[in-house]
Amino acid sequence: MTKAWYKKLHWQIIIGLILGLIWGLVASVSGFAEFTTDYIKPVGTIFINLLKLIAVPLVLASLVVGVTSLNDATKLSRMGGKTVGIYIVTTIFAITIGLTVVNVLQPGDFLPDATQQDLMANYQQNIEGSSQRAQDVMDRSFMSFFVDIVPSNFFNSASDNGNMLQVVFVAILLGLGLIKIPAEKSKSLINFFDSLNEVIIKIVDFIMKIAPYGVFALMAGVIVDLAGDDITQALNLLGALGWYCVAVVVGLLLHVIIVYSSLFKIFSKMKLSDFFKAMQPAILLGFSTSSSSATLPVTMERAEKNLGVDEEVTSFVLPIGATINMDGTSLYQAVAAVFIAQALGLDLGIAQQITIVLTATLASIGAAGVPGAGIIMLVIVLQAIQVPVEGIALILGVDRILDMCRTAVNITGDAAVSVAVAHTEGLLGDMHLEDDE
Ligand code: ASP
Repeated sequence: MTKAWYKKLHWQIIIGLILGLIWGLVASVSGFAEFTTDYIKPVGTIFINLLKLIAVPLVLASLVVGVTSLNDATKLSRMGGKTVGIYIVTTIFAITIGLTVVNVLQPGDFLPDATQQDLMANYQQNIEGSSQRAQDVMDRSFMSFFVDIVPSNFFNSASDNGNMLQVVFVAILLGLGLIKIPAEKSKSLINFFDSLNEVIIKIVDFIMKIAPYGVFALMAGVIVDLAGDDITQALNLLGALGWYCVAVVVGLLLHVIIVYSSLFKIFSKMKLSDFFKAMQPAILLGFSTSSSSATLPVTMERAEKNLGVDEEVTSFVLPIGATINMDGTSLYQAVAAVFIAQALGLDLGIAQQITIVLTATLASIGAAGVPGAGIIMLVIVLQAIQVPVEGIALILGVDRILDMCRTAVNITGDAAVSVAVAHTEGLLGDMHLEDDE
């Protein structure tokens, strides 16, 4: 017997999101904002913490198991080359689409002067921290990216989800070591990681059972944070920045439709609609958490169970993707940079637009998979094209909403590339579109 539609996980998550939105709006107009912040928002935090809790052990266990089942170690470097190559190409396409949309729609010309001055005055003090953090990233040398991948102490890496590339590195090393020692010595450790892997996947199922409540709480919290006790102010802001938001969202949609369906046409025979059916819960979770890292366990689970991507691929391609592949973020950075320039009356020539392609690629690689990382790294793009960093004040007020949209696309991009890599390696199995959680 097929399940009633409303019992399906993705519908439950969508219902949770909508109810959260309604609750947030009602709470803001009826004086329940504080209650929501004190008692409902923490439920969302618990939900995100649960997801983060299992991310490091999951990546470690599944990648060790993945590497030990490789019958050919050169496959790993081949897969690595392909993964990074496709990640960079899709990112460049994303930025190009962002630049095209923002140059056609010209959203900066629609921002009223009075609103511009108000925004600059209100959000100015929030920018200094971002500039400093982005500056710290810029000050690092090219080689420090590679130095940072190799930890001097594994327990330090495992204690911070921001060190995912270090965990990936250690897992590969461990897996390669396990292949090289006699089977009777490696067996027990491999079995250990195998069981750990299975158990964590079971825990992902448990966590997904509370996902609709988690996203309800997250959504209610976001709306109350945005609206506070004066929803009209938030709506006015959204109205004034409406064209800018439209430009980002249209760019993201075009990217998904054009780039990912082409990717599927070239590398597999998967239909974009089937891909979405399989990945929906992960994409919706990315939308509600605004964090690729927190969503990673669910992205991995869905890619494996529902898209049919082999664990050898998901355990390798997806943690790297959650750290460095952010198509949504790079597209948003391109739109935001040009929007700020337009609003401040600065003309950007072709050379500056090319600089945006280069810097937004780097800035999105450097952005962590956590809420708000993309706007911090936007500083790098603005500095490179000599647009005042203070202009970020113009877009801060609506950033959380756009963060949700771009994170959903970041996750979509990671999973789409895992399909492409799996297909070229002969590691793409059958799709499984029904939820059986
Ligand atoms: N929140 C995004 C992510 O986790 C990064 C960003 O701020 O753009 O993928």
